[in-house]
Amino acid sequence: MHSLDTYAGDKLDRLEAASLLRRPRPTQRLTGAYVERDGCRLLSFSCNDYLGLAHHPQVKAAARAAIETHGAGAGASRLVTGDHPLLSQLETRLARLKGTEACVVFGSGYLANAGLIPTFAGPGDLILIDELAHACLWAGAQLSGARIIPFAHNDTDHLAALLAQHRASARHAIVATDGVFSMDGDLAPLDWLSAVCEANDAWLLSDDAHGVGVLAQGRGSAALFPDAQIPFQMGTLSKALGSYGGYVCGSQAVVGLIKTRARTLIYTTGLPPAAAAAALAALDIIEAEPALTALPLAKARASTAAVGLPLAASPIVPVILGEAEAALDASQALEAEGFLVVAIRPPTVPDGQARLRIAFSADHPDAEIARLADLVRHYVKAR
Ligand SMILES: *Cc1c(COP(=O)(O)O)cnc(C)c1O
Repeated sequence: MHSLDTYAGDKLDRLEAASLLRRPRPTQRLTGAYVERDGCRLLSFSCNDYLGLAHHPQVKAAARAAIETHGAGAGASRLVTGDHPLLSQLETRLARLKGTEACVVFGSGYLANAGLIPTFAGPGDLILIDELAHACLWAGAQLSGARIIPFAHNDTDHLAALLAQHRASARHAIVATDGVFSMDGDLAPLDWLSAVCEANDAWLLSDDAHGVGVLAQGRGSAALFPDAQIPFQMGTLSKALGSYGGYVCGSQAVVGLIKTRARTLIYTTGLPPAAAAAALAALDIIEAEPALTALPLAKARASTAAVGLPLAASPIVPVILGEAEAALDASQALEAEGFLVVAIRPPTVPDGQARLRIAFSADHPDAEIARLADLVRHYVKAR
């Protein structure tokens, strides 16, 4: 056997033995937060399409129309000929939603963080990152070549102490955090983080992938902290907006430098027209229907009250079960009851903190939320 296949095969065997093997499973996403898997219809609590917009008739029609007008793909990098007019329309709308001067759209949220951080930090600079920040913030930090120091989750005292110790020896400093933590659902204290950053000439980067569309009438987590200074407001079009793509909102100067220097913008093809058009249609719906944007959080709160968990701060509710096997078993049992609640295991979450991650959607029927809560309560008690 080829040494490469021996290496990969052995590694797969070890991961499987530790319940850490991951296998994508073909899933047909139906309307109304339902999915079809292995011939079964399941109510999904594992999609980030919080408002059900991926299947919204207006969003789908906008995507179809964009394909007719602009074609299926952008054809080149945005800096060559891939900068179709829908992108600047989308950037204007996102900047307006976020209350910033400007915005730049990327191919995905992951690409946005992977390009943003190295544009503003390099060797000689410092990146302080929340220990639970999303993998793509870590990837961007690592690509930059700057010194990376993690701070304890949401611990502004720890952050301030690290800045007191290390800020003076670095040229620039970036503080990177999720606005809504993707696996825990809690919010970053953006007001306190901003105050610490302002006092230490550090630049705050908040990743609002799970806030936009579902918090503060859709404006996202930063809008809950109106006094916070957040010069890098990053997010995704791939979750509540029901489409695909990523963005960074900020000042004209910040966005201008990204457009001319970010490698994940320059050396990759522009976002497909249909994805941009779908996101624009989703923004129309979000701006017109504030009551819709409030539903996922309201449903998450009804669920945490019913299960006896701390009140949800976002549409994401973690149910921490410990070992990977326990989380997989619980997930399988829920599947037998008609619910898709995917188990989240290391390395996505720390060792010993495998969990069910329940993501609430505007489409979830209240009676089904109550039935799921009855089942989940059993796991919480058993632990
Ligand atoms: C999903 C996610 C991303 C990545 O966004 P994509 O558009 O899916 O690449 C970035 N940050 C956080 C916190 C996320 O949850």
